[in-house]
Amino acid sequence: MTTDATRSVIIIGAGIAGLSAGCYARMNGYRTHIFEMHTQPGGLCTSWSRKGYTIDGCIHWLVGSSPSSPFYPLWEEVGAVQGKEFLYADEYARYETEDGRTLRFPTHLDALEEHWLEFAPEDAGPIREFVSAARRLLGFHQPLGKPPELYGPTDGLRMLRQMAPYMGLMRRWSALSIADFAARLKNDALRDLVLRAWYPEFSLFFLLVTLVWLHRREAGYPVGGSLAFARSIEQRYRDLGGEITYRARVRRILVRDDRAVGVELEDGSQHFADAVISAADGYTTIFGMLEGLYLNDRIRRLYEMPLFPPLVQVSLGVRRTFEDVPHLIAGLDIPLKSPVRVGGREERRLTVHPYSFDPTLAPPGKTVVVVLFSADYDYWRRLHETPEQYRAEKERVAEQVVAALEERFPGLSAQVEMWDVATPVTYERYTGNWRASFEGWLLTPQNVRVQVPRTLPGLRNFYMAGHWTMPGGGLPTALLTARWAVQVMCHHDGQEFRTQRPTEHAIRST
Ligand SMILES: Cc1cc2nc3c(=O)[nH]c(=O)nc-3n(C[C@H](O)[C@H](O)[C@H](O)COP(=O)(O)OP(=O)(O)OC[C@H]3O[C@@H](n4cnc5c(N)ncnc54)[C@H](O)[C@@H]3O)c2cc1C
Repeated sequence: MTTDATRSVIIIGAGIAGLSAGCYARMNGYRTHIFEMHTQPGGLCTSWSRKGYTIDGCIHWLVGSSPSSPFYPLWEEVGAVQGKEFLYADEYARYETEDGRTLRFPTHLDALEEHWLEFAPEDAGPIREFVSAARRLLGFHQPLGKPPELYGPTDGLRMLRQMAPYMGLMRRWSALSIADFAARLKNDALRDLVLRAWYPEFSLFFLLVTLVWLHRREAGYPVGGSLAFARSIEQRYRDLGGEITYRARVRRILVRDDRAVGVELEDGSQHFADAVISAADGYTTIFGMLEGLYLNDRIRRLYEMPLFPPLVQVSLGVRRTFEDVPHLIAGLDIPLKSPVRVGGREERRLTVHPYSFDPTLAPPGKTVVVVLFSADYDYWRRLHETPEQYRAEKERVAEQVVAALEERFPGLSAQVEMWDVATPVTYERYTGNWRASFEGWLLTPQNVRVQVPRTLPGLRNFYMAGHWTMPGGGLPTALLTARWAVQVMCHHDGQEFRTQRPTEHAIRST
């Protein structure tokens, strides 16, 4: 049940942040209208169909998918997890060496320690230190209740008490990057696995927290894939009475007397509301839709921080199964006899994701296989100016990947029924993300404490949500920052923030 709608809010974007912001705004009695430029919900959290196969474009793991996680009740609030089956992998990744050995990355800490010590006894010191730090973090939970700007003195104290046992660990491991840790490893395969399983620039503390989520089995894959996941939140939003318009690209945020009052769409139509939440790309919002008029140096500097590199995703539909490859979150990392060239870069290894574990994505006996590469944004942007060359390069990339996979999976090239290549241009075109970054900013030791404002200096009745409002990005960030944006909006409007799970009839305060 929602209260009578008195105030209205326009939300830009129906990605996970926009849909979640819509749900929370409805729970708090706002009349809501989401404008989305695409034809469907989800933004980056999407899937697409080709020749009877469903290609998944996003979720490898959803942090907060199990009830032991503090994120779980939030996912419940937006109707994302109810009735869904989640699969929990026993291994995060697998790394095959050129001399035929397999290095595993188990999700259980004991299994991880045992296997890595056996594989790389020369690195016993750093392995033990690393796993022991992760074990000491097993009780760690990120405080989620309120955005930092709404903290009062008692909230601050409560947070400090909750975090106190972990402060030392956080300080020490946040100051290091994954590359710093890898540099201590003597074993070539282990070093390469650690560098390739995430990003070398990333804060090492995040890798530790990843181990904790995996060990606690709190980050599962939703059977049915990413679009089905996004559609559950869209359904929840509609059930709450929210309005949504697709094929509606916002060109400008309308401002009167330094207050956001609505939006203007590409077709020239104008739409008005008491407030605007942008859950679209941060750069476009600030420098495009608002023409850079509400800025300070702090915000300008944010857009100089390192980004998640854009991706090339090669997807194949193959008439075969992959019994010898288990469900791996970060994929099977295989060496190549001869390198492949993808978008001007030489690749000596491939990270392969056979989606055998989700039977909804392909007909029986068939499988979708995805190979992901980090890509050079400028290369693909330039190439796209000559459509024939762009198309030819996509085809060449697919052919090379098929040939390379043939080495590891003999017979595969004759079993390929479908191929699809998404480039940084594809990601940018479909979601508007700046320089095709797929999660916003990397979480580095330098920006681990950076707070991104949810409001802009000098502009009232305007809020931001989504992965451009918290370094590290991802789906839980999209959800949390949407909840926080609505919390801040309720605070400015002098009303208590309320949430509701679909099964609950009474609204409860948090
Ligand atoms: C290959 C891949 C794998 C990933 N794996 C994971 C994973 O396993 N786990 C995880 O947590 N995260 C993962 N992510 C990251 C995750 O998808 C994103 O961080 C998250 O979806 C961001 O959500 P968002 O709502 O903030 O932004 P977006 O998804 O970018 O949504 C923004 C929305 O705004 C719309 N929009 C933009 N401009 C306008 C405009 N002018 N007018 C109207 N609408 C507009 C866009 O069309 C889009 O729908 C992955 C991403 C990719 C690409």
